[in-house]
Amino acid sequence: MKNKYLYILSALFLGACAAPSSNLELSSEVDKTGYLFYQNSDINLHISEIKNKLVLPAEEYGVPSYINLLPNAKRDYRSGYHMGVDFSSPMNYPIRAAYDGVVVRSNAYQQDVDIDTYNYFLNLSSQVGKTPDDIYNFILLGKSVVIDHGYNITDKFRTITVYSHLSTITEGLVAGDVVQSGDIIGMSGNTGTSSGAMQSDKGAHLHWELFFDDNSGRYFLGQNIPSNLLKQNIDLLFK
Ligand SMILES: [Zn+2]
Repeated sequence: MKNKYLYILSALFLGACAAPSSNLELSSEVDKTGYLFYQNSDINLHISEIKNKLVLPAEEYGVPSYINLLPNAKRDYRSGYHMGVDFSSPMNYPIRAAYDGVVVRSNAYQQDVDIDTYNYFLNLSSQVGKTPDDIYNFILLGKSVVIDHGYNITDKFRTITVYSHLSTITEGLVAGDVVQSGDIIGMSGNTGTSSGAMQSDKGAHLHWELFFDDNSGRYFLGQNIPSNLLKQNIDLLFK
């Protein structure tokens, strides 16, 4: 008990003294300006490696500045965090491949579940405390296209891009198809959202993701990047 008391006292003392001599703390902090994601000093990606490489998936809609539309934003309705960028493209706006690649997924015939079933899945997610992968991928993304870019965007990580909530997918586009940067893969919509489940045409946007894989795991664009740097870092990805 006495030790604990001393510990608290010394912590208070150190805390009080920290402000004038905080150089050490500051110098060890990583400046994440220009990083696309930062897991640790070994696992990260700086924009200098892939600057201006991608095309905007919804041509006239740039990276939003509102942090709720950017990665890491909380998504209370499904007990999770945003792992993508929400581009404000309206219903039936053409969506294009951000880079050359091979289609991994194209579920043109996916139908929205009804709103009661949708809410059932959201309730399940809140009981689990996070969004289970199957609910996320098979329900919440709606009609979606996933493109594998191999190691062609960066040789450090295998990358994929995900285009979701599409209203339609380009006719005949199937897994295995090779696409070029800029090819139209579908039209933006609201499938997989609550509006889609209610058969409304509200809430259309493109939810877009970029993931980085290596043998240590999967990382998403913007992961561990402070919100005030997200837009400026992600902007540099695009031509
Ligand atoms: Zn989104």
